[in-house]
Amino acid sequence: MTKINAPKGTRDILPTEIAAWQQAERQFAAVCARYGYQEIRIPTFESTDLFQRGVGDTTDVVQKEMYTFLDKGGRSISLRPEGTAGVVRSYLENGMASWSSPVRLWYNITAFRYENVQKGRYREFHQFGCEVFGADGPVVDAELISLLALFFKEIGLGQTSLRINSIGCPVCRTAYNQLLKAHIQPHLADMCPTCNDRFEKNPLRIIDCKEHKCQPVTKTAPALLDHLCPDCQTHFDGLCTNLDELGIAYTVDRGIVRGLDYYTRTVFEFISDHVGTQGTICGGGRYDGLIESIDGPHTPGIGFALGVERLMMELNSQGVSVATLPVPLIYIAGLGAAAATKARQITFLLRQQGIYAETDLMNRSLKAQMKFAGKTGATYTLVLGDDEIANGEAKLKHMADSTERVVRLDQLAAFLTAR
Ligand code: ATP
Ligand code: MG
Repeated sequence: MTKINAPKGTRDILPTEIAAWQQAERQFAAVCARYGYQEIRIPTFESTDLFQRGVGDTTDVVQKEMYTFLDKGGRSISLRPEGTAGVVRSYLENGMASWSSPVRLWYNITAFRYENVQKGRYREFHQFGCEVFGADGPVVDAELISLLALFFKEIGLGQTSLRINSIGCPVCRTAYNQLLKAHIQPHLADMCPTCNDRFEKNPLRIIDCKEHKCQPVTKTAPALLDHLCPDCQTHFDGLCTNLDELGIAYTVDRGIVRGLDYYTRTVFEFISDHVGTQGTICGGGRYDGLIESIDGPHTPGIGFALGVERLMMELNSQGVSVATLPVPLIYIAGLGAAAATKARQITFLLRQQGIYAETDLMNRSLKAQMKFAGKTGATYTLVLGDDEIANGEAKLKHMADSTERVVRLDQLAAFLTAR
């Protein structure tokens, strides 16, 4: 029989890396809690329609990368390629508009995209994300960005730069699209089929094209930031002022348009100097038109998604020391059948007291048990034999310095807890 491997673009997160993942998850949840964000958990799959409308059917994600299938009931279903659309659906479906504003949510999800697999680019990956609904001021944008900056600081990530831009609103975009199309038109015949397709439907999306032959045209295109309407300009200036007030460094990058259709005004990315072409660790922006596009009332919103695999790669490459898994506080060895039973009972008792304890499960010799205890890195070991059981006390050995002390078995938990 042929060996079955994990599907292309998926990866296992093994126990050797899990402590670092858990630490990142804990720290992200902790920062979100300090900002008043609440966790939301959404389904892994949704109606395909939601993503077509919520992400946009002229985006790469929807046009090329979505895992879509008909379920047994003939419904078109897609695995979520991102979290925002599902969170917005939930916001509307559960009447969160009646909660007090702003509604601030965070999530930790897997996402699925049929991508060309390469370093930092998988078909199943993880995202931490936040969404804020019901507040439209630049103070909200700055607060959200400050949450990310604080998370990166606390997790120890350096050498990451924040880039911000504004891609305006439908008002400024209508005028700008004419300028952009005039710039592109003469070169259109030499550009890729996707750009040709988007030329009429959504010309702004062309700026995000990654095809080599389209780059000379996209790189020289006029920038929306230079053609904002007065309201969008005020918003962008407000964002810059607010970031300055909070002492958060940023660069204005006219080239950021973001891969999803729903963004308005503020767009931003945190880019690392290491991950190369996959250097975007996190991207986000304001989406004041999104909720209407999925049949909700006009509601401003802003959010971001952070690629956890890319964050982990970045932490590794920057040599940030990450958490390690806990080691047992004690290993209890048993010599003989009666002692082995007693060892299992005491181990159970200690675990009930909140102590990480280990004992033998492999019917090993005493020598092999002690070798195993050494491998686990247990802080203490204790050997139980018939005498110890009869006397109700045993020698507790501190492994690092080989010192021993006699403890009563019925006081073991108290001793270990008080330590
Ligand atoms: P890219 O330009 O790299 O394709 P994107 O614009 O498609 O990114 P977003 O939709 O903004 O990415 O997703 C937010 C974050 O999720 C990205 O900044 C990245 O860190 C991460 N991400 C996106 N796609 C993948 C993937 N296929 N594998 C791993 N991480 C990903
Ligand atoms: Mg992408």
